[in-house]
Amino acid sequence: MLEIKNLHVDLEEEEKSILKGVTLTVEAGSVHAIMGPNGSGKSTLSYVLSGRDGYVVTQGSATLGGVDLLELEPEERAAAGLFLAFQYPVEIPGVGNMTFMRTAINAQRKARGESEISAADFLKLVRQKARTLQIDAEMLKRPVNVGFSGGEKKRNEILQMAMLEPKMCILDETDSGLDVDAMKLVADGVNALRDEGRGFLVITHYQRLLDHIRPDVVHIMADGRIVKSGGPELALEVEQNGYADILTEEA
Ligand code: ADP
Ligand code: MG
Ligand code: MG
Repeated sequence: MLEIKNLHVDLEEEEKSILKGVTLTVEAGSVHAIMGPNGSGKSTLSYVLSGRDGYVVTQGSATLGGVDLLELEPEERAAAGLFLAFQYPVEIPGVGNMTFMRTAINAQRKARGESEISAADFLKLVRQKARTLQIDAEMLKRPVNVGFSGGEKKRNEILQMAMLEPKMCILDETDSGLDVDAMKLVADGVNALRDEGRGFLVITHYQRLLDHIRPDVVHIMADGRIVKSGGPELALEVEQNGYADILTEEA
């Protein structure tokens, strides 16, 4: 599904190397988690995969289902099946939540040579998906994320994800700033989307999200590299001992 090989990334603005050789394969049907101290390059990895400006890939590759992601425009990456849920979802005043999602779905369909979704089908789909995430009709009518609480924004991101049915979902600290109930809703939403044909990369600073979204593989990232990979027990080890032990051990 997602195959990252020896990825090296610099900042565009200044001479600074952020990712220093990341190699990672997320198989279809699996959930991989990336944990690691602040500033280790976790968000940079997700930005580079989604095609955000400001970064230069100096070495390595990233493919999704065999397609070279790094050659594609951000919207082409989305059409290819990549979805990124942000740590800080943006507010878009003046754009209704429903309009936003319908436009995104139709853009994806167009890129795939499919016809637009009908208004009735869209409404049915969005209501059904919103229900599981406890998103009410009022929230759907408001401008994207404007005036939403932290928990509502994150749930709205998962709703967008559920609507677009991506092949590969990347969640960058979707749990940050959430209370336990909101985090459980987000985790339930993700778990409902787990599927044989879909891969997940869950980036989190804390272990608690991984109690609810049980990963198949856990990677520890530090200073732009994956320094250790293991099973879910690795997340527990971090929770109990912090990163210091793992980092000195690997060094
Ligand atoms: P993490 O998500 O693991 O906390 P980030 O990817 O956000 O780490 O950041 C990795 C490093 O790169 C940090 O030292 C951060 O300050 C730096 N960095 C990332 N993006 C930029 C940027 N646009 N400008 C300056 N520094 C950046
Ligand atoms: Mg950070
Ligand atoms: Mg980050």
